[in-house]
Amino acid sequence: MRRVFIIRHSPVRGIRTVLLAFLAVGAVACAPVTRVDQGIAFVDVALIDVSGGSVHPGMTVVVSRERIVHVLPSRDIALGPGVEQVDGEGRFLIPGLWDMHVHFQGDADQVRTVEFPVFLAHGVTGIRVMSGCDSTYVSRQPGSQPCMTDETPGNPSPRTIVGWREEIVGRAIVGPRIVSSSMMFDGSTECYPSYTLESPEDAREKVRWARNSGADFLKILNCSMSSNVYHAIVEEARALGIVVAGHVPRGVTLIEAANAGQKGIEHAAPSLLEACGSAKEVASARAAYEEGGFLAYLEGLIAAFDPAECGPLVAALLENGTFFSPTFLVNTNNVVNHDLRAAVEDDDRRRYLVPRIRSLWETWIEEQTIDEATRTLYARYFDRLYEGVATLEQSGIPILAGSDTPNLLVYPGSGLHDELGILADAGLSPAAALAAATTAPARYLDLDTDLGSVAPGMLADLVLLDANPLKDIGNTRTVRAVMANGRLFTRDALDDLLEAAAVAAAK
Ligand SMILES: [Zn+2]
Repeated sequence: MRRVFIIRHSPVRGIRTVLLAFLAVGAVACAPVTRVDQGIAFVDVALIDVSGGSVHPGMTVVVSRERIVHVLPSRDIALGPGVEQVDGEGRFLIPGLWDMHVHFQGDADQVRTVEFPVFLAHGVTGIRVMSGCDSTYVSRQPGSQPCMTDETPGNPSPRTIVGWREEIVGRAIVGPRIVSSSMMFDGSTECYPSYTLESPEDAREKVRWARNSGADFLKILNCSMSSNVYHAIVEEARALGIVVAGHVPRGVTLIEAANAGQKGIEHAAPSLLEACGSAKEVASARAAYEEGGFLAYLEGLIAAFDPAECGPLVAALLENGTFFSPTFLVNTNNVVNHDLRAAVEDDDRRRYLVPRIRSLWETWIEEQTIDEATRTLYARYFDRLYEGVATLEQSGIPILAGSDTPNLLVYPGSGLHDELGILADAGLSPAAALAAATTAPARYLDLDTDLGSVAPGMLADLVLLDANPLKDIGNTRTVRAVMANGRLFTRDALDDLLEAAAVAAAK
């Protein structure tokens, strides 16, 4: 997957070891001053070490082309007149943020002109797209939604994403790094555009189609997928060395999915409460489902859930290196907001929504009906899910932050910050919430030697903040500047991007 992200290589990488050895010696004696004559420097900044949960003030970070070349105490570095300086005093530098659960509803032109700049302006320098398109498959499937083009909304094919990456690296457009999903996999009934699968043989064949389409990973959906089709997909993917992520179908437990090798599990769902519940109580919750429907099932799961029972799930996730992406925002939004229409109308961010998303939201708001008793039940259910995810995080399971934009009230860019806030409310420390959008995505993508921390040799995806995110995760919203693959955007430049995006969205 690495080739996808790093299109240009710079020679600075090779000197990293030398530089670190040099720093080690320098720490003992008096450090010699390093002279720098070109590049961009964040001067006198407080560096956030996400893994260590610590702040290191008085540092200067120098970027040359697309990589970080120096991270030194400011007193140990002399900047020549050719260096572009960014004032970091009183400010905080973090690695670029990843939104690990993104969809598109516009056409390709709108993605480029509206959504990409909006992601960047909010410090989101990487996105994992969670629904793709296989043009060969849709061309042979009468009636299926076509792939996204400049004029047609849909899901982007991996080829479209390759085109975007080239435009971004060539600086023809601005945008984040992008991981491409396969067309989603589902059972024989289609609820979203997907490969509709009749049998395990069919499933194996479509895994090969998805690989040939160029997708970075396979996305599982759960509207109608059977257990045997699921296992055929995961087995075939493993044989071909392609990552599987997504939902876990009903009829497959989370432990089973982890053991099968599904790398990423999306959405904190009833399956989490089932996995952390006593067998007897989970069985009666399931029986309640048969007799009394979904809400009776949730009531049963709330009673069954006990964090002390999460042990076997934790063990399976740890053993298999499985990542968990709760996507709380998308699930809680329409329950916690009593007046959805007012919530949208009162929110200035709606100016960054393309017309198609606005009208979809209108439709979805019309469809929402929830009585107070149900709302209260859901609130209790979410409390248990929060507790479950906090338990996973505290047990060492890597959590991925994903917003699931542009679902209802999930705005591109800022939606990620909303999700980080919920993760913190759920019980994650600010450092753990920040890790879910920085170090954990880098590890998930096997890119942790290039992304996820601020160190010499790393790719220069950086966000400069006005306030300390380790004090309050809400401070990730105080974006002063963004650097994406070495390209600097000051606050003025970011405001210009937002303004242009709003104009493009209104078209
Ligand atoms: Zn999604």
